Amino acid sequence: MNILVVGGAGYIGSHIVKQLTDSNHNVIVLDNLQTGHAEAVTKPATFIKGNVKDKSLLRKIFTETSFDVVFHFAANSSVEESMKDPLLYFDNNVSGLIALLEIMNEFAVKTIIFSSTAAVYGDTPEEVITEDTVTIPKNPYGESKRMMEQIIQWCHTAYNINYVVLRYFNVAGADLAGIIGEDHRPETHLIPIVLQVPLEKREFITIFGNDYDTKDGTTVRDYVHVVDLATAHLLAMDYLLEGKESTIFNIGSSTGFSTLEIINKVEEYTGKKIPIRYGSRREGDPHSLIASSKKIEAVLGWKPHYTDLDAIIDSAWKWHINHPDGYENDC
Ligand code: UDP
Repeated sequence: MNILVVGGAGYIGSHIVKQLTDSNHNVIVLDNLQTGHAEAVTKPATFIKGNVKDKSLLRKIFTETSFDVVFHFAANSSVEESMKDPLLYFDNNVSGLIALLEIMNEFAVKTIIFSSTAAVYGDTPEEVITEDTVTIPKNPYGESKRMMEQIIQWCHTAYNINYVVLRYFNVAGADLAGIIGEDHRPETHLIPIVLQVPLEKREFITIFGNDYDTKDGTTVRDYVHVVDLATAHLLAMDYLLEGKESTIFNIGSSTGFSTLEIINKVEEYTGKKIPIRYGSRREGDPHSLIASSKKIEAVLGWKPHYTDLDAIIDSAWKWHINHPDGYENDC
């Protein structure tokens, strides 16, 4: 299969690229390296540096290869940054997708797997979130993804572009071969930040708020291993190529861990004390996000293989220990 992965040099995209090439697909990655790393694109995938908004570049890429499927990961994804600069999020995320869909339609490429997020749900009173839970994003990042989902759905209606939208909960861990992993600059995600303390790159963790209505007052999230997440993408692709109905799936582990519990787990795993400080709430943070993954389990037969936090922490730790400064050759 010929597959275009837009944003395939980022943390999540690169893990999907690896599984796709491991399954012998011909993969072309388009990424502007704004947050990604060329080194994260594992061979034999082909890497093209460029912006998804660049329609003449897209036309050239689509002329050279006849794609069966497109995966979209090219998006800014920090809640905090989106609160400060919403226009960046609407411009990069939404206009990038529009350009891609326009060219897909022009070249009659009718299959897209879209990387979405639990941030579309916002603060919901429901303890466990299903795909039918109402979406009221609490930050521009989540809003931009919700808009992108809607754009894709209208393109399905109008141009017959088929889609699977995957709403990720908190993705963590690294590929077990140890070649690729998480390297955001600056890092904002909880697990890699906590690991920075035993790695002696940080002295303490600031917990953003301990007055939430949760088990210990800190925010609760549902962590899913990036390798399990990648597997779900391949299943979603096969599902669409079998001609099945376009749809949306949550992907999580259906278990919630508080921020404090994550810190305790990392302490246990590394045997190193992690000092904490309590700070104020981070703007835009929902109190709790836990997925129901029943739909993806029933429809795609997906089941997470790495079901406990230890497997996530273990793979992330190995990546960071072996790559203390992340990827070496680029930003
Ligand atoms: N968090 C924290 N301190 C940090 C980083 C994150 O307390 O230094 C909290 C954050 O407020 C959120 C949770 O950890 O509730 C997970 O944050 P992350 O950025 O990893 O993912 P998000 O859920 O925002 O996508």
